[in-house]
Amino acid sequence: MPGNDELIQALSAALESAPGNVPVRKHLADLLMEAGRYTEAEREYRVALDYAPYDAPIKLRLAEAYYRQHKAQVAVMILEELMRGPNPAAQVFLLAASAYVESGAPDLAARAYQKAVALDPALADPTLEQQLPAVPPETPGDSPPRRRPEELVFVAVDDAGMTPVADIERPQVAFNDVGGMEKLKEDIRIKIIYPLTHPQLYKAYGKTAGGGILMYGPPGCGKTHIARATAGEVRANFMPIGLHDVLDMYIGQSERNLHKLFEQARRIAPCVLFFDEVDALGSSRTDLRHYSAMRHVINQFLSEMDGVDTSNEGVLILAATNAPWYVDTALRRPGRFDRVIFVPPPDAAAREAILRIMLAEKPAKAIDYHRLGQETKGFSGADLKGLVDSAIELKLQDAMRRGVPAPLVTQDLLAALKEARPTIKEWFATARNYALYSNEGGLYDDVLEFLKLPEGRSL
Ligand code: ATP
Repeated sequence: MPGNDELIQALSAALESAPGNVPVRKHLADLLMEAGRYTEAEREYRVALDYAPYDAPIKLRLAEAYYRQHKAQVAVMILEELMRGPNPAAQVFLLAASAYVESGAPDLAARAYQKAVALDPALADPTLEQQLPAVPPETPGDSPPRRRPEELVFVAVDDAGMTPVADIERPQVAFNDVGGMEKLKEDIRIKIIYPLTHPQLYKAYGKTAGGGILMYGPPGCGKTHIARATAGEVRANFMPIGLHDVLDMYIGQSERNLHKLFEQARRIAPCVLFFDEVDALGSSRTDLRHYSAMRHVINQFLSEMDGVDTSNEGVLILAATNAPWYVDTALRRPGRFDRVIFVPPPDAAAREAILRIMLAEKPAKAIDYHRLGQETKGFSGADLKGLVDSAIELKLQDAMRRGVPAPLVTQDLLAALKEARPTIKEWFATARNYALYSNEGGLYDDVLEFLKLPEGRSL
C-alpha cells in the first residue's frame, strides 16, 4: 500500500492526462483533506465542481475545506444553497451548525443541529451541542436556515391503501408571499376564503359556498403559487393535481381517479383542491372518437364539483390553465367555475414586490428594487425567479474563486438580466388571436384590455 503522499502524487499525475475524471479528483481532494492540506483540497474540489457543477457531496466537501481554513462565511453560503436544494444530507446540517457557530449565528446553528440529529441521530455531537443555545424545535412559521415553500405532509392513498392518489402539502406560504395580484387575492377571499371562515354570515344572506375559481394566463405568472398561498392563508391542506396525470386511457378509469381525488379532499378538509392543466378536460380538443369518453369524464368532474352525492364543505376548488380556449364550456356554468380570472404578467410594481419577496432571505445589500422592477418589463414571476437564481449562481462562483463571500447587489442582478429572456410573448401571440376572433361572452376582454396597456403593447 503506498503512503498517502505517494498516492496523492500518483493521483495528481493521473489527473494531468485526464483532468475531467471527477471521481479521481474527488479522491485526491479527500486525501488532501485527511492530510490537513485544506487549501490544496479546496482547489481540487473547485476544479471537480467545474466538471460536475451540481454534485452535492463535492459541494459539501468544498464547504468543509473552507470551514477548516476558518472561512466559515464562505462555507455557510455553500451550505445554505445545499440546504435549500432537494433532500439535503444530514451532514450538510451538521457542518452548517459548526459553520454558523463560527460565524456568530448561534440560533441558526442550533436549528441546523436539530435538523442534522433528526435526520441521523448517530450524528449527535455533545461537544458541539454544548456551544449551542436552547431553541424551541422548529415550528411551521419559522424562517431560515431552511425555509421550504411547502411541506409534504403525506401521500394520499386509495381506499385499499395501495395506490398513491395525490401529494398533500401543508403550505407555509400565504398571501404575503405573493407579490402584486391584489385583485385576484380579493376575489379569492370573497369567493373561496370567507365562505369557509364566515359560514354563518354567508348563510344569513342566503349564499352557499360552492363552485370555484378558474385562473388562466401565461405560464409562470403565479397561478400555482397563489393557489398554494390560499391554502397557507387559511391553514388548509393543499392537494395539487395535474389533470393530465389523472386522465387515463382506459374507459372508466379517469372517472374513478377523479372520484378518489375528491373523496380524499373531503376526508382531509379544510383543503384547497387545485387542478392544474384543466384544459385537459376539454372535449373541444379531442377528436370525435374520444368525444363521448371525454363527456363521461367531464360529467363525473361536474357531479363531484356539485357535490351531488356528498357535501364538499371545506373543500376549496381552484383551477388553472394556460389554454382556456380548450376548457369545456360546461365547466364555466354557475356553481362551477363561474369566476374565470385572467392572471396577467406582473406589472412594474408587482415585479418589484416579487423581487423583494424572493430576495428577502438572501444575503443582499442596498438593492434598487424600483429600478429592477422597471428594467424587467415582460418578465413573469418564474422568469424573475430564474433571474435571481442566476445572479446568485454567478455570485457564488465569484465567492468560491475569491474565497470571500459578498452580498448580492443591484449590479449582480443587472448583469444576470443581460443574459435573461422573458418567456411569455408566445402565449400572448396565441391569446391575442382567440381574444380577437373567438371572444364569446367577452371571456377574453381582460386580455384585450391588458394588450392595450403600455406594458402589454410592448410584449
Ligand atoms: P404554469 O402555468 O407554468 O403552471 P403558473 O402560473 O402556475 O405557471 P407558478 O408556478 O405559480 O406559475 O410560478 C412560478 C414561480 O414563480 C413560483 O414558484 C414563484 O416562485 C414565482 N412567482 C410567480 N408569481 C409570483 C408572485 N406573484 N409572487 C411571488 N412569486 C411568484
